[in-house]
Amino acid sequence: MRAKGSKRIAGVGTSIFTEITALAVQHQAVNLGQGFPDFPAPDFVKEAAARHIRDDRNQYAPSAGLPRLRRALADDWRRIAPGGPDVDPETDITVGSGATELLHDAILATIDPGDEVIVFEPSYDAYGPDVAMAGGVLRPVPLLPPDWRFDLATLAAAFGPRTRALILNTPHNPTGKVFRRDELEAIAALCARHDVLIVSDEVYAEIVFDARHLPIASLPEMFERTITIGSMGKTFSVTGWKVGWAIAPAPLSAAVRAVHQFVTFTNSAPFQEALADVLPIAARDGSYDRLRDDYRRRRDLLARILDAAGLPTLPIGGAYFLLTDVGHLGTGGDVGFCRRLVTEVGVAAIPTSVFYADPASAPPLARFCFAKKDQTLQAAAERFARAPGLTAPSRSHQNS
Ligand code: PMP
Ligand code: GLN
Repeated sequence: MRAKGSKRIAGVGTSIFTEITALAVQHQAVNLGQGFPDFPAPDFVKEAAARHIRDDRNQYAPSAGLPRLRRALADDWRRIAPGGPDVDPETDITVGSGATELLHDAILATIDPGDEVIVFEPSYDAYGPDVAMAGGVLRPVPLLPPDWRFDLATLAAAFGPRTRALILNTPHNPTGKVFRRDELEAIAALCARHDVLIVSDEVYAEIVFDARHLPIASLPEMFERTITIGSMGKTFSVTGWKVGWAIAPAPLSAAVRAVHQFVTFTNSAPFQEALADVLPIAARDGSYDRLRDDYRRRRDLLARILDAAGLPTLPIGGAYFLLTDVGHLGTGGDVGFCRRLVTEVGVAAIPTSVFYADPASAPPLARFCFAKKDQTLQAAAERFARAPGLTAPSRSHQNS
């Protein structure tokens, strides 16, 4: 029977976000699972796209991205990575269909079958399948709760003769960790010593609460070996627009462009035009400060709601998720908890063990997204108040 998928995709199942969002719809649950804002995007962002659609900027953009957008991204890079080398918009930037596409392009462009790729675990769900589709082998290195540091000796031991790349994600989904300068320097030193490339997923660069986000490509001599990936989705609350970019030195960008050319060739021209308009405005009108203040407030509101429901959360440095330990609730781990939460309480969350190559090794944590209207967060609070049974510790555990 030939009607089956290739071996390459044998291990690729349905994404947890699709699964939980479908369950949330089915049970009319308050969806704090999949990470997307349910509040309106800023007016100036929406107006920019509407204007370009009306002005008939509706045909293919060049494959590497609109030149004026690449110039705007190169200018913005000086704000994001002060002290790092300037990037050439002609050769060093590729625009594509969200960070998801650029991650896929970057990995397919650099990983040969049998190459090893180091990832920190928990790791965003796309990395494993992307590496598998390239024929690579994942080498996970754990981030350790509650503060998600990594053990340097364990990281160093993960590097070997077949190591080709390390995938970094800062600010980190799902833990909210923002890698510190000394941690990035340690990673950079190992990558330089072993001549390893870095794919750095920095889609939450603007959602940081305490320390500044530091792109690893801005550290000395790191630009030449790093593909930095960004996205408009989180920063401008337009996850459905799917405009992402990869910044890398010319030879790596050429490889990324080779894949991008035949994955999507190009993505939505009017949304690219809109981003080109929006970047210089946001850089000077306080948009990023407002975004951070706004998310700080939403974070605190959800933390209070979860706390009141008996689900205290771990501290975070960035991104828009809170984690809570559900191991003591007697629900059969995080997967059992999230399944019961959506069906019995009517709130959807993401079990984080799915972000581990070996889910059995994962701490039992549920991830709640706070990129939501106050009304949505309050609706979750009401659901928790109506069905308090699930979030109370199990008796067997209380007695133990
Ligand atoms: N990387 C991380 C860490 C993410 O959390 C997400 C989406 N939430 C993506 C990549 C995908 O970004 P995009 O929607 O731009 O494809
Ligand atoms: N990245 C989003 C999250 O972490 C989901 C994106 C998706 O649905 N693929 O929740």
